[in-house]
Amino acid sequence: MNPSLQNWLTTSIEALKEQNLYKVPKILESPAGGRVRMNGKEVVNLSSNNYLGLANHPKVRQAALDSIEKWGVGAGAVRWIGGTMSIHQELEERLAKFKNVESVLVFTSGFTANAGCIPAVLTDKDVVISDELNHASIIDGVRLSTAKYKKSEGYVYPHKDMEALEKILQNTQSFEKRMIITDGVFSMDGDIAPLPTIVELAEKYNAFVMIDDAHASGVLGKNGAGTTSHFNLYGRVDIQLGTLSKALGVVGGYIAGSAALKDWLVNRGRPYLFSTAHPPMVAATLIAALDVMENDPEPMRKLWDNTRWWKEHLQEAGFDTMGSETPITPIYIGDEAASQATERALWDEGVYALSISYPTVARGKARIRTMPSAAHSLEDLEFALNAFKKVRDRMPALAGAR
Ligand SMILES: *Cc1c(COP(=O)(O)O)cnc(C)c1O
Repeated sequence: MNPSLQNWLTTSIEALKEQNLYKVPKILESPAGGRVRMNGKEVVNLSSNNYLGLANHPKVRQAALDSIEKWGVGAGAVRWIGGTMSIHQELEERLAKFKNVESVLVFTSGFTANAGCIPAVLTDKDVVISDELNHASIIDGVRLSTAKYKKSEGYVYPHKDMEALEKILQNTQSFEKRMIITDGVFSMDGDIAPLPTIVELAEKYNAFVMIDDAHASGVLGKNGAGTTSHFNLYGRVDIQLGTLSKALGVVGGYIAGSAALKDWLVNRGRPYLFSTAHPPMVAATLIAALDVMENDPEPMRKLWDNTRWWKEHLQEAGFDTMGSETPITPIYIGDEAASQATERALWDEGVYALSISYPTVARGKARIRTMPSAAHSLEDLEFALNAFKKVRDRMPALAGAR
């Protein structure tokens, strides 16, 4: 390897290790679920986005097998050059009904849906106004655009601060278009964006709203239709992003909105234009996942029963869950080294719950992030709660003085 590159890589990795920010992924050796085998060990998994247990649901598995018989395994091309199969189209029609919008366009992931949609709808005459805790894929999508967006120029508001948002809206009236963009459910804190106020402000100041509902999809709203449904704001959120990779259990992302929006993205959404379509199996399994979500209330009920149980018991035991309102339940620690040590101690107790630290969250705000799901039994959660209590006796940082 080129010595400058080799040197740079070695020193950069060393620096990560010194800051306790170095990651080594563990390997899942069983299907996704509440209890899994990982790195040769049986553990309760509290770090999965498989909210509804659909990643290994029998009906969804069967749909995959059936679709391979019918369609084979690859689409063979990008969407617009013959890679769109009727099963892809059927999925988009189903999603549009599910979301109660005119049109949906599917991308290969939520990340590429952001990277495709955001730059496509903005020009250099526009501005993006963002919540400071927006997801990395929103930030990268915004960076790909030619619009103004920088925090240093005053276009990022403190987390959920609606007065600050209003001030920015007042100060940006000379732009041609203004887009307010926010996570629907914040991915590392588990709180919900104040969407009713955001929509009112957008309407008052002639801005438009894009919401990233990756963690709200399958979790909030009617049958899991997301924050727009949760707050009953149908028709008032211009662009909704959803993921098919988390609660829906497979992979993919989509943009839901008007027919004109879809029409534009089909012509100008670069990941749609230049990256191969999903395997047909992906579309077929997602249709099966939607069937389950629309016809079986049990997974969502169990997700929320488990969520309530988990939060109540953690709080009762004195842990700081940071104001989370959804299944995403962070347990605040602060110091990166203490958070990593806590993760290791939990692992020793048979619980996989990841430490989240910079750059995913701000420096000094490290936490253990947990997510109960419909795939967990009450015994799994009791087991995990006990592990947290045991670990706390050895880890003063977990005691939670913030
Ligand atoms: C996970 C996530 C994404 C990316 O979705 P994928 O389908 O996994 O690519 C986008 N936005 C937010 C807020 C997320 O949490």
